[in-house]
Amino acid sequence: MNIVKESQGGQRAPVSGEDLALISALARKEMGAEEVYTFSVRLCDNEVDRDFERFAPQTLEELAGLFVGKSGIFDHQWSAQGQAARIYKTEVIRETALTRAGDPYCWLKGYAYMVRTDKTKDLIAEIEGGIKKEVSVGCAVERSVCSICGKDLCKESCGHKKGEVYDGRLCYASLEGAADAYEFSFVAVPAQPRAGVVKGRGSGLMRLKDLAAGDGQLERELKQLEEEARMGRDYLKGLRDEVVRLGLLAGLGLEREVLQSMADKLDYEQLLSAKEAYGRRAGERYPIRPQLSYGQREEKNQADGAFLI
Ligand SMILES: [Zn+2]
Repeated sequence: MNIVKESQGGQRAPVSGEDLALISALARKEMGAEEVYTFSVRLCDNEVDRDFERFAPQTLEELAGLFVGKSGIFDHQWSAQGQAARIYKTEVIRETALTRAGDPYCWLKGYAYMVRTDKTKDLIAEIEGGIKKEVSVGCAVERSVCSICGKDLCKESCGHKKGEVYDGRLCYASLEGAADAYEFSFVAVPAQPRAGVVKGRGSGLMRLKDLAAGDGQLERELKQLEEEARMGRDYLKGLRDEVVRLGLLAGLGLEREVLQSMADKLDYEQLLSAKEAYGRRAGERYPIRPQLSYGQREEKNQADGAFLI
């Protein structure tokens, strides 16, 4: 069973001589303290999450070994450029606070390094500045054990409902038997922390195609999603063009290239807001045909040449 968990991460860690030796061993060459940037991340913990699942403390110990040498990627991009960080050391930290399951809280701390280059400069600044805060980890466990009856939920369902309390005991799934650790990734700060669990089949969590392969229903669903995504991208492109057009009409004093580059950075909601605001401005400037601001394309009958972009 593959899982992805998210948590807080990205803390500066000092480089000791001992750390440099570990890093050099992984990098297979001697690294100087000034060549690497190191930081620590909270990879995962034993707290019961909002899906009522948690890593058992023993699983964290097992994952500690598996995560050494694994890569950290950024924004879920599998580009070579993105695979810029690597975990060189891990440690299970035990605290006195209790989890919702009633046992001491512990978490897996990963120490990661990045080679300082022009390409990693901006990322390092983002980590230092605390922008890249959330970390998600991908790993595989063998069992998902019901906390009430001990049955392996990967194999059978037991009738207990996760999140319910039975005789004062919270029902949750305990993730046990770490089989593999894939990577950790910084995710663009999500609205809510610990944004949940993605469960998959087979290996390679990030590759939906692999997950769907051989399953007709899943493949159809994936194809449908791809088609919808393509249509969404086309629509977004149209929306961006419209924002640029209206921005020019609104007389903001910005060049087309500047507007285009701004529009490229906006997400859907922001584009809609920009379209509305620019449309209003454009409508005020050209009160004769304000409705043109809202996408009615009557270029052929246009009285005012200013609308032709
Ligand atoms: Zn059960």
